[in-house]
Amino acid sequence: MATVKMGVVGCAGRMGQALLRQIDATEGCAIAGGIERPGHDAIGSDLGTLAGLAALDIAVGDDAAALFAASDVVLDFTVPAAAVAHAKLAAEAGKGLVAGTTGLEPDQEAAIAEAATKASIVRAANMSVGVNLLVNLVREVAARLDPDWDIEVVEMHHKHKVDAPSGTALTLGRAAAEGRGVGHDQVAVRGRDGITGERVRGSIGYAVLRGGNVAGEHSVMFAAENERVVLSHLATDRAIFARGGVTAARWLAGKAPGLYDMNDVLGF
Ligand code: NAD
Repeated sequence: MATVKMGVVGCAGRMGQALLRQIDATEGCAIAGGIERPGHDAIGSDLGTLAGLAALDIAVGDDAAALFAASDVVLDFTVPAAAVAHAKLAAEAGKGLVAGTTGLEPDQEAAIAEAATKASIVRAANMSVGVNLLVNLVREVAARLDPDWDIEVVEMHHKHKVDAPSGTALTLGRAAAEGRGVGHDQVAVRGRDGITGERVRGSIGYAVLRGGNVAGEHSVMFAAENERVVLSHLATDRAIFARGGVTAARWLAGKAPGLYDMNDVLGF
């Protein structure tokens, strides 16, 4: 199999750097380049040094179109507006895209789906093997338990995270709603404060914690009278997301245009 050339947008970010290290460490993959938002301090510095690797003699750039031209697949873990712009570029260039950014509004998700009519895109709020297994387990458990089992999703992340609940928490909540055969947005309770009244039967609640450098912890609780089932995933290093992202990028090379998820990549 030919070497897959991978470009990283947001290469100076926490995930960007982890992705560079993972591409460097993965057989059959090569770093095609990396870009940052215009004006970022890292522009012009060596991409390898930036990620704690040996110098690569590739400078961090800010030209997204040039990065797409040089890459087979681009990995995007940035911010929602940039994620949409990069999906459009992937469609124009006919290149693969691993779209990992979270916190997108429904119209922004729709723009990524539209781009996937022309580009092959893996879209997932969480690229780890464990979380994708958990999503499937949650759907299955929710399908077996009636609404007397209250569903609550609890997540904790590092203090720098800007969106809440996490994209992964929402994916888990949606899987629970799917399993139960209800519309997620009709039953979701995304935060509680003050005199909220009693819990509504069949609702799916969210609770969010932020602090320290927690890479990502998620629990889905099914609570009934006198018993609880708790399904959890604990990430101790964001390298697991980078590993999943690079696995997705390798899988994408040569795939027909379409919107894929990690179930497709992992064969779950
Ligand atoms: P971060 O803030 O450390 O990094 C984001 C980087 O993107 C920054 O360096 C920023 O300058 C850069 N950026 C912003 N706009 C840009 C543009 N127009 N062009 C190029 N670069 C641009 O954040 P992070 O912790 O690395 O997370 C990034 C995103 O990835 C978040 O949405 C996070 O929730 C998501 N994430 C997804 C997964 C997953 O598995 N799907 C895992 C972890 C994080």
